[in-house]
Amino acid sequence: MAHPDAVKPFRPWLKDNWNLVASFSEFGTGAPMPLFELIGNLPTRNFRDGSFPQVNKISAQTLKETIGTGMHGCFACPVRCKKAITVKGPYYVDSAYGGPEYETLAALGSNCGIDDLKAIAKGNELCSAYSIDTISTGSTIFFAMECFENGLLTTRDTDGIELKFGNAEAMLQIIELIGRREGIGDLLAEGSARAAEKIGNSARAFSMHAKKLEIPMHEPRLSKSLALGYMVNPHGADHCCNLIDIFFAAFGKESNVIVHDAVPLGIAPAPFEDIGPRKVALFRIVQLKRIIVDSLVLCMFLPYSYQQLAEVTSAATGWNTTTMEQLRVAERTLTMCRLFNVRHGLTADEDRLPPRFFKPTRYGPLGDTALDPEKMENAKRYYYSLMGWDSNGVPTPEKLEELGIE
Ligand code: SF4
Repeated sequence: MAHPDAVKPFRPWLKDNWNLVASFSEFGTGAPMPLFELIGNLPTRNFRDGSFPQVNKISAQTLKETIGTGMHGCFACPVRCKKAITVKGPYYVDSAYGGPEYETLAALGSNCGIDDLKAIAKGNELCSAYSIDTISTGSTIFFAMECFENGLLTTRDTDGIELKFGNAEAMLQIIELIGRREGIGDLLAEGSARAAEKIGNSARAFSMHAKKLEIPMHEPRLSKSLALGYMVNPHGADHCCNLIDIFFAAFGKESNVIVHDAVPLGIAPAPFEDIGPRKVALFRIVQLKRIIVDSLVLCMFLPYSYQQLAEVTSAATGWNTTTMEQLRVAERTLTMCRLFNVRHGLTADEDRLPPRFFKPTRYGPLGDTALDPEKMENAKRYYYSLMGWDSNGVPTPEKLEELGIE
C-alpha cells in the first residue's frame, strides 16, 4: 500500500453510502425480486412468459426467512453480501457453497418455471461443485425445456427425464448430467447456442444468447441500453459490463431520467425509455467504467465514482493516475478486445440479440413492450462511431494510432 492514510477515508465513506447497497448486507442480491416481477425485469420461462406470480417463494427475503443463517463477505468488505444457508431436506445442500445469488434464483427459478427454493439452492451447490456458471447452465436448461415442450427433445433424448418447465427434479438431474457430460448432458454442456445448432429445426429460436453467451437475468426489453450492451460487448451478453437502466433511473424525479456520476464528465442524463445518442453516450462511459473496475479487481457493487476510482488506485499503488487516463486505458482494452474478435472473424452481424426480444412477452408488464429493431440498429451504429469504429464495427486505423495500438 503506497499511501495507507489516503485509503482509510474510503471505509467510513462506504459505510455512509450504503443506501445503494444497504439491502445487500441484509439479503444479498435478489432483494428487489418482487419489484422486478411488478415492472417486468424478472425473466420467466425462457424470457417468454413475462409473469411469475410465485416470485415470493424464491425471493431473497424468503430465503433469509427460511433457509438463511446469516451473511458472509469477501475479505475486509464492510458490505458482506454473501448468503449463508442450511438445507437438510428434502435435498442436502453443503453450506460451504453458500446460497444462490439473484442471477441463480432467476436462472434456475423463474426462467425454468421453478418455485422450489430448496431445489434452487441445491442447483446452486451442484453448479458450484462442478465449476459451471449458473446463468449459462440455467439458460441452457430452460432452452432445453422449451425444446422439450415443442417436441424437439423427447424422453428418448433425455433418458426418460420429463424436462418440463417447473420440474425441479429434472433441473437437478440435468445439472448432474451436464457436470459429468453424460447422456444429454454432453450436448447441453456446450451451451444453448451450440446445442441448438445440433438439435436443428426451430431450436435456434429458443436459444437466448449473444455471441454464444447466454443472456443474464435482466430484461433487455425493459432496459434499452442494457440491451445494447448485450449486443456489443466483446464477450457477448454480460450484465456486469453494462448499464442496467433500471438501477440508475430516478423514478418520479426529473421526469424519469437515467442519472449517473458521469455527469461531472460532461455526460448528460437521458430519458429512461430512450436509446438515442445521449443514452448511448451514457452507456459507453459506464461500460468503460466497468472495465476500469474489472481491471482494478474491485467489486462492482461498491459505489465508487470515477474520481474515487482514480484516487483509490493512486493511494494503493503510488501511480498518480487520473480519471481521463483510466478511461483511456479502458478504451484501449475494449478496442483490443474488438480487434481480437475481428481477427477471429466476428462482424457487426454478431452484435445482435435473439428475435424474441423484438416481440412482447406473452403476459405481464412487458406484454405490450418490445425492442425496436431500427432504434437498436441506430444505437449500435452510433456506439461504433463514438468508439472510433467503422460501420462494420472495425476500429479505424486513425483510432488505433490515437490509442497507441500498433
Ligand atoms: S466485495 Fe462485493 S461481492 Fe464481496 S462481499 Fe463485498 S459487496 Fe459482496
